[in-house]
Amino acid sequence: MNYELDHPEIREAVTRLCEAFPGEYWRQCDREQRYPTEFVQALTDAGYLGALIPEAYGGLSLPLSAGAAILEEIHRAGCNAAACHAQMYTMGTVLRHGSDQQKEKYLPGVADGSLRLQAFGVTEPTSGTDTGSLRTTAKRDGDEYIVNGQKIWTSRAEHSDLLLLLARTSPRDEVKKKTDGLSVFLVDMRTVVNKSLTIRPIRTMMNHATTELFFDDMRIPADSLIGEEGKGFRYILSGMNAERMLIAAECIGDAKWFINTASNYASDRNVFDRPIGQNQGIQFPLARAYSQMRAAELMLKEAIRLFELDENPGEEANLSKLLAADASWAAAEACVQTLGGFGFAEEYDVERKFREARLYQVAPISTNLILSYIAEHVLGLPRSY
Ligand SMILES: Cc1cc2nc3c(=O)[nH]c(=O)nc-3n(C[C@H](O)[C@H](O)[C@H](O)COP(=O)(O)OP(=O)(O)OC[C@H]3O[C@@H](n4cnc5c(N)ncnc54)[C@H](O)[C@@H]3O)c2cc1C
Repeated sequence: MNYELDHPEIREAVTRLCEAFPGEYWRQCDREQRYPTEFVQALTDAGYLGALIPEAYGGLSLPLSAGAAILEEIHRAGCNAAACHAQMYTMGTVLRHGSDQQKEKYLPGVADGSLRLQAFGVTEPTSGTDTGSLRTTAKRDGDEYIVNGQKIWTSRAEHSDLLLLLARTSPRDEVKKKTDGLSVFLVDMRTVVNKSLTIRPIRTMMNHATTELFFDDMRIPADSLIGEEGKGFRYILSGMNAERMLIAAECIGDAKWFINTASNYASDRNVFDRPIGQNQGIQFPLARAYSQMRAAELMLKEAIRLFELDENPGEEANLSKLLAADASWAAAEACVQTLGGFGFAEEYDVERKFREARLYQVAPISTNLILSYIAEHVLGLPRSY
């Protein structure tokens, strides 16, 4: 794997940082479902989580390709950026659609890590993927909004100061499209948590710090609204391409970790007096996963190229997420098979990475919904839902 990669200095520095967080660190966090505070602090101190924030607000002003390189290297090193990747990109909604005052108030703190903006509340238990049917409401009352409802799978809420919240501000029957009448708010959770906001952790198959949120007459200042009332769905959509590309980069990093781990093991492990890697039954799934990973990597490169030219790479961003999640899952499967019984042993980290990699077939967008997007928006087929 010695083809040319962009941002080599950043990649090398991230790899060095990750060396301080070996498998044992992640196993311990995983066992206790503990938040990897030290790892997140190290990334924050190095400025990586503020990489995409403009220098004017204290960030590194780096392009998306640099953000992707950072996240890919974290995963290639066997670490997991899911604990904090949202700190890198959730701020995009504020940057693109927030007022100057909101940007000046929040972005410098997000850039230096003193303000954590890594909770993103869109999904609800009843509406699921059908975002337009969400039921959480925000009603204007003088210079405040009153929020009522529930969110699910709001990851990192316990480790975030701010929450980017999507809620309905106009009743469904008063708007033309169900995605109209939704608004985005930047909620300072510190003032409402354990009062009108309840955060309940959800234990999951991997260590992910995800939660349920309950809003009970939660009053927030009217200036928490981002952009115009009723246009929130559009604002959330405008950040989706970047999110898909960054998650694709993580999947590519995972695929590289699995392929590398499996190849090393297959070269060293002797059964029937020869390395198991000499058997084509072991070689081929790894070679196939590698091919899938390379295809995903090239698609991601193209998506990022278009994004950095200010074009709208909806097709390429979705394809790169789809291909990368498939590649990481194929690599995960081949890696477990290559290690045989040891693929299930905690100390090899393969079973942990296997559980972590599985998520990306479902979140932040499920494979089916990406296929629907391609069918409808690229192939011109009738909308299926
Ligand atoms: C660990 C974890 C962390 C998450 N973090 C966040 C977060 O921070 N913030 C947030 O807002 N959300 C978060 N999510 C939610 C995630 O985005 C959703 O789980 C995902 O979008 C799928 O929604 P759902 O779980 O409600 O599934 P559903 O919408 O109930 O769908 C279930 C299955 O049916 C399929 N399906 C549904 N409709 C169709 C259709 N029309 N055609 C074909 N297939 C269909 C889906 O693809 C899926 O496979 C997280 C989820 C998990 C598991």
